[in-house]
Amino acid sequence: MPDSTTQHPTTSAAGQGGGGRFDALVIGAGFSGLYQLHCLRDRLGLSVRVLEAAEGVGGTWYWNRYPGARCDSESHSYCYSFSKELLEEWEWSERYPGQAEILRYLNHVADRFDLRRDIRFGARVVSAEWDETAELWRVVTQSGERYAARFLITAVGCLSAANIPDIPGLEDFRGRWYHTGQWPHEGVDFTGKRVGMIGTGSTGIQAAPVIAEAAAHLTVFQRTANYSIPARNAPLTPEFKRYVREHHAEIRRVMHATPNGHPFYIEDRSVFDVTPEERRAIYEVAWQRGGLQFRATFRDLLVDKAANDTAAEFIRGKIREVVKNPATAAVLSDIDHPFAAKRPPIDTNYFETFNRDNVTLVNLRATPIECITPRGIRTRDGTEYALDAIVFATGFDAMTGPLLRMDIRGRDGLPLREAWRAGPQTYLGLQAAGFPNLFTITGPGSPSVLCNMPVPIEQHVEWITDCIAHLRSRGLTRIEATPEAVDRWVAHANDAANASLLPTVPHSWYLGANVPGKPRVFMPYAGGMARYRAICAEVAARGYEGFTLGG
Ligand code: NAP
Repeated sequence: MPDSTTQHPTTSAAGQGGGGRFDALVIGAGFSGLYQLHCLRDRLGLSVRVLEAAEGVGGTWYWNRYPGARCDSESHSYCYSFSKELLEEWEWSERYPGQAEILRYLNHVADRFDLRRDIRFGARVVSAEWDETAELWRVVTQSGERYAARFLITAVGCLSAANIPDIPGLEDFRGRWYHTGQWPHEGVDFTGKRVGMIGTGSTGIQAAPVIAEAAAHLTVFQRTANYSIPARNAPLTPEFKRYVREHHAEIRRVMHATPNGHPFYIEDRSVFDVTPEERRAIYEVAWQRGGLQFRATFRDLLVDKAANDTAAEFIRGKIREVVKNPATAAVLSDIDHPFAAKRPPIDTNYFETFNRDNVTLVNLRATPIECITPRGIRTRDGTEYALDAIVFATGFDAMTGPLLRMDIRGRDGLPLREAWRAGPQTYLGLQAAGFPNLFTITGPGSPSVLCNMPVPIEQHVEWITDCIAHLRSRGLTRIEATPEAVDRWVAHANDAANASLLPTVPHSWYLGANVPGKPRVFMPYAGGMARYRAICAEVAARGYEGFTLGG
């Protein structure tokens, strides 16, 4: 085997020494990094080290501890499916799992598969450079530890680089401020505090109701009004738990057959196949059932603006019905983009929260934030909102951010930042040309964030594992996407996006529009997970078509 000379450094359950040479390095110990370690170490027998910046496993669920943090995927689908035993022994408690429960689950997985002994915690990767002569990735952490490996796999998540807007005056603010993705582990006690929250995406919509219950006053600063569907979260009934226990295989089959990896099908009917009354009744049932299934009521919601308008108007009507103050309702329902063309949030009492006496909505479209003052936030009309704390629910430098914050250099020292100057360019979201043996789990150009994440994660990890096994069984040492395959994939991914309404929203993070200066490129693959899985399988079956294999 090509890597048989690799040393296997001594490890202990308590942690590992720094540095060393391995067959593979994995960056990140969230959903993807944990499974990648398991596959490469326990199925292929490779020496693997996972480098993780945090002091524990969990990725997104380690960092995002903000009030109300909960997953939008239903719990029975938001988990690994690779192990029958794991599926059978873990029982979720609620329809949508909360942050603490998901983190417990990932810790359970780490223990169950004995993963911790190969994870180096507190190890933030700052650079990775391809050494052409040795055919090794050379990786350096913030504390100066040096690692080398033939294969480098990024498992850094799509939404892990916090976006803190550059608002003048933040450094002079006398209160405390927090980004939801870097929440203090000890929690924050907002009792008696005047809290300002900037941002009304999935995060802000989850956090506002919970913060409002504790705070003396909550001021929500809204720039873009957003749709939200009630989650209707509830404890799982014994009957549903039994159903899940008895139908794992069937549930998984559905998840693998649908475009978004969720455990429900998209109805095969057009909005215009039914009368307006029937349509309203269908939307009403979906509204009462709650959750992302609302999007699955008709097949044309995401491709036909006129079809989408019917759902959009239904939700706007619901907002106006729920929110008692007509002026507030008007600002909340003044939504400027098609439903679900930005990532659709689901909520627990979000719109209801604006009926509370201690909650105020500020419309930043009418009066943008001018600056942060020592006492609070001042908007352009001269109003100063006095605050004890500011919560930035302002999202992430999505998909490319976590990769480009590291200094990754490929063949001939080519920086990834340079290769992606005009936006990410990948083949299948798995590899970039010029970066041999570097795999990006749920990278830009793959379905990733458009899906229930464990589904694309498992597919990528398994594809990468099979690919490395293929190379090793043939005595090969390298694989690299060809520039032609990258160009073809980028063109195909653009076509897939343009066939939908998704790229029509100018301020969407899918396009990188939330980060000033970021190139406007639609980043995830919108062709659907089932189709993507088939394409990847076909590529592998044809001897990794579009890649150059060597060594
Ligand atoms: P987001 O969707 O990017 O929302 C950020 C919010 O902050 C938007 O309302 C944005 O307004 C606002 N904002 C950003 N910069 C601003 C500025 N300078 N001034 C005023 N407002 C500003 O971020 P997110 O809510 O953290 O969600 C990101 C993604 O994470 C979600 O789409 C989802 O994929 C995932 N997520 C999932 C869950 C879940 O499963 N439950 C929960 C949370 C997050 P504009 O719209 O005008 O830019």
